[in-house]
Formats: sequence, C-alpha cells, structure tokens
Amino acid sequence: MKGKMLLRVNEKFDSAHQLNDYIGKCSRLHGHTWRLEAYIQVDKLQKNGISIDFHDVKSFLREFLPDHRFLNDYLDMKYPTAENLVTYFYKEIKNRFPGLSKVVLWETEANGVEYSEV
Ligand SMILES: [Zn+2]
Repeated sequence: MKGKMLLRVNEKFDSAHQLNDYIGKCSRLHGHTWRLEAYIQVDKLQKNGISIDFHDVKSFLREFLPDHRFLNDYLDMKYPTAENLVTYFYKEIKNRFPGLSKVVLWETEANGVEYSEV
C-alpha cells in the first residue's frame, strides 16, 4: 500500500478517579466522561477493501474500557492520571491490535494526552 493509512476509532466511557500526592481539587473524588481515540496502522487491505473491521475495534473497546468504575481501585493504580492511564490503555489495546500506533485519551473536551512508542 502506498502512503500511510490509520484507522481511527473513538470510544467514550464514564469513570471516577482521585489524584494522590497532589494539591488541588482533583485530589478529591470526581468523574470524567473520558474519550479514547485509538489509531491503528493499516498495512494491507483484504480483497473486500477492509483492513480491520471498525466493529471489532469498537466492541473490544466497549468491553475493555473501565466504564462506571473507580479507577484507583479497579485498575489498582495509585496514580491514575491521564498520563498513566493512556500508557496502560495503549499496552492493553496493542496486545489485541498489534497495528496500534497511537492512543489519545481526552479527560475533558480541551485536555488530553497522547501516547505512542515513537
Ligand atoms: Zn480528573
């Protein structure tokens, strides 16, 4: 395939967290509607013109993302910041979809963190 092609899939989930060793309002329990964007590199298409079925990515994310959870306990993470979460999500999604090249985790409409290995 000529050029670079990336499949992009977005999924939202609602979860709570509490930041530790931090002074500010986010040290109190609060929630976000998080939005995760997965970027998957496409190397070749099947005969029908499809690379990876969007539906497969969507259903994996729906199953995997910690919806309606308290992230500190559920993920056993002392520092469930957007930075630590995006790294964790990247590793887990990469296990299922090896072509994953980047994950962006939006904590609010305006604030997000992007992670890739390069
Ligand atoms: Zn927060």
